[in-house]
Amino acid sequence: MNTIQMVDLLGQYKRIKNEIDAALIHSIESSAFIQGPPVKELEAQLASYLNSASVIGCANGTDALQVAMMALALKPGDEIIVPAFTYIATVETAALLGLKLILAESDPHTFNISPASVEASITERTKAIVVVHLFGQCCAMEALMKISNQYGIPLIEDNAQAIGAFCQVEGMRKHAGTIGAIGTTSFFPSKNLGCYGDGGALFSQDATLAKQIRMICNHGQERKYYHDIIGVNSRLDTLQASILLVKLKHLDAYIAARQKAADFYDAQLSGIGGIQIPYRDPASSHVFHQYTLKVADGKRDALKSFLEKKGIPTMVYYPEPVHFQKAYASVEYPPGSLPVAELLARQVLSLPMHTELEESQQSYICQSIREFFA
Ligand SMILES: *Cc1c(COP(=O)(O)O)cnc(C)c1O
Repeated sequence: MNTIQMVDLLGQYKRIKNEIDAALIHSIESSAFIQGPPVKELEAQLASYLNSASVIGCANGTDALQVAMMALALKPGDEIIVPAFTYIATVETAALLGLKLILAESDPHTFNISPASVEASITERTKAIVVVHLFGQCCAMEALMKISNQYGIPLIEDNAQAIGAFCQVEGMRKHAGTIGAIGTTSFFPSKNLGCYGDGGALFSQDATLAKQIRMICNHGQERKYYHDIIGVNSRLDTLQASILLVKLKHLDAYIAARQKAADFYDAQLSGIGGIQIPYRDPASSHVFHQYTLKVADGKRDALKSFLEKKGIPTMVYYPEPVHFQKAYASVEYPPGSLPVAELLARQVLSLPMHTELEESQQSYICQSIREFFA
């Protein structure tokens, strides 16, 4: 049995080495390092894959969120509703723009933002809602879009973890990231569609917003040296785009490999008292960026170190909700104010999940978990 890893980027590369190496050499030899042809080509192919009107590449998933908020013309003091249980990038960008963070509760089963909590958080000052399709499964988009439309508040989908996932909205099967006003994603290496460095993208179905996004990413200019709005420098690197063009062709196979591994875990781990396997929402497919258990009775950390001693890495995504982070602590959200998000932070444990997992490795992981609870 090979060493078990949380992710195996080298193993994945080795299987597509010839394609990747050829694409990189081609890009280097053509020497169009900034906004070279692979960037446009990736934007077009990803738009077609996602059935999205536009895709705009940018430097990383955090920039994508910032640019999305800038494109919606959010101003300092505007309220933005965000999940309390998420990766920090989601809220960091809002804080940097001077927006007032309104933290919403999580759903205890899906880990995703609770639509009821979103609706209860709306005031006249609410100018945007950010939802995160956490661990690879879509938020309750039907309910969330109903709220977004009813109150006229634009919704940003942080789709860094769920590219390729589908969900049902008003009887239609839509790609995660293409449902709200703007979708964002990250091509961080360990993401489901990852490059070999930093990268990100935005999706929009609205031509005016797409144009605005493209200008903001490029110093607020449409025409070189004529700056109509204040922008940033956030470009998808050409070499990374050439890697992504190769990997996009394999994305469906990568998703299938993750789903197969998740099914295996489900079969082996369901029925163990003390842990809960990931809930599957019938309204969404799950692309398993992470396979995340809930461990009850305060045993999470003990299970984690038990597995570590057996050579099994696990991760806690995320150990603290936003309002427990030093930088984001506030009087509005004392401990106990967002009990579900707080409980999830104490219970979640993500098992190794990637495209190269072997069944022998998974059997050993599951057997070790059974041993802990025996
Ligand atoms: C990875 C991630 C980001 C940030 O992406 P970067 O490319 O690392 O900036 C944002 N949101 C979520 C939910 C993520 O998982």
